[in-house]
Amino acid sequence: MQIEIRDLSKAYNGQIALDKLSLNLQDVGSLAIVGPSGGGKTTLLRVLGGLETPDSGTVVLNGRPVDFQEQQLMAHRKRIAMVFQAYNLFPHLTALQNITLPLVKTRAVPAELAQQEAVSLLERFGLAEHLHKHPNQLSGGQKQRVAIARALALKPEVLLFDEPTSALDPEITAEILDVFNDLRVDNKDLILVTHEIGFARHACDYVAFVSEGRVEMHGRSDMVYDQPESEAFRRFVSRIISWKAT
Ligand code: ADP
Repeated sequence: MQIEIRDLSKAYNGQIALDKLSLNLQDVGSLAIVGPSGGGKTTLLRVLGGLETPDSGTVVLNGRPVDFQEQQLMAHRKRIAMVFQAYNLFPHLTALQNITLPLVKTRAVPAELAQQEAVSLLERFGLAEHLHKHPNQLSGGQKQRVAIARALALKPEVLLFDEPTSALDPEITAEILDVFNDLRVDNKDLILVTHEIGFARHACDYVAFVSEGRVEMHGRSDMVYDQPESEAFRRFVSRIISWKAT
């Protein structure tokens, strides 16, 4: 995917979330946005997903400028699918229905086709035995896999993930990492926000470090973690590692 973000700003009641943030990436398959809490990661992701309107600045995704006027935003939202930390599954629907309903209602996919698509996605993510379970009958990792399958069913141009593993145990996080690797092999374009730097490193080819509303540093994951040029990023990584060791 190609992303050109220029001078993106957003404040909430005077509290600056994005401060003329710019990022220009050509041909990146999977991007992790990491950084300290309150740095602006989620706001950036929500702007990219068309869920939040910036105060100023521009975003061009795969060559197409995003028009943040409400009527035009609907078209942009259809290019994107978002997976949330809290899964946001409909509690009264089964895993299968959670996938088929949005397809039928928002994409006008015929019910039978939606069903086939949903079954094959759930099977792909190892959920064949859980098609007819409701979210409260599924584990956290299973719910997250249903949420990812639902997002994929919409065939988005780009998949956005907001802290997809923060509610999960380490071993379940490893399962979700497998899902990410599967998506990357499939050449899906992904953008992930996470404070889990280990996950980010293994889940994405590219990383952007966002702090105080700006991109402090960005680069290929295999380079920046081993030889971080940014002192702030180095401090961020070492603080997390020393905190985890205690
Ligand atoms: P991060 O995801 O890096 O933790 P956020 O984008 O959530 O950062 O937040 C950036 C800043 O914007 C923080 O100071 C946060 O308190 C503020 N903020 C984010 N969303 C809202 C909101 N809906 N209302 C008010 N302030 C917000």
